[in-house]
Amino acid sequence: MKIAIIAHDGKKADMVAFLLENKEYLTTAELVATGTTGSHVENAGLNVHRFLSGPLGGDAQIAALAAEKKLDLVVFFRDPMDKHPHEPDVQMLMRLCDVHNIPLATNKASAQLILKGLNH
Ligand code: PGA
Repeated sequence: MKIAIIAHDGKKADMVAFLLENKEYLTTAELVATGTTGSHVENAGLNVHRFLSGPLGGDAQIAALAAEKKLDLVVFFRDPMDKHPHEPDVQMLMRLCDVHNIPLATNKASAQLILKGLNH
């Protein structure tokens, strides 16, 4: 199971809570993340491959994996209350998840439900 994790700054606390609540399952998965998100994943005690920070192209790198169908799940804790300079990359990532039918969770509740579903 290869899972990409991304969190905008305003949602990093939600993302860490999600990691800790699902640590047992996530330990068995191969994790990739954008740069700063990835450092939080490491601090939570999980192994992760860190790409560039989101605004520097990390979302685009994860989108490339989605284009190659190399992801089983994308968990993207988006902050709907803030503006992001890399919004075009965010849209590209979400579009490619839809193109290739890759499960995409954009908040903690949906991430929780999808992970539960994958677990069964
Ligand atoms: P970050 O990027 O993990 O480097 O903060 C996330 C994003 O804003 O896409």
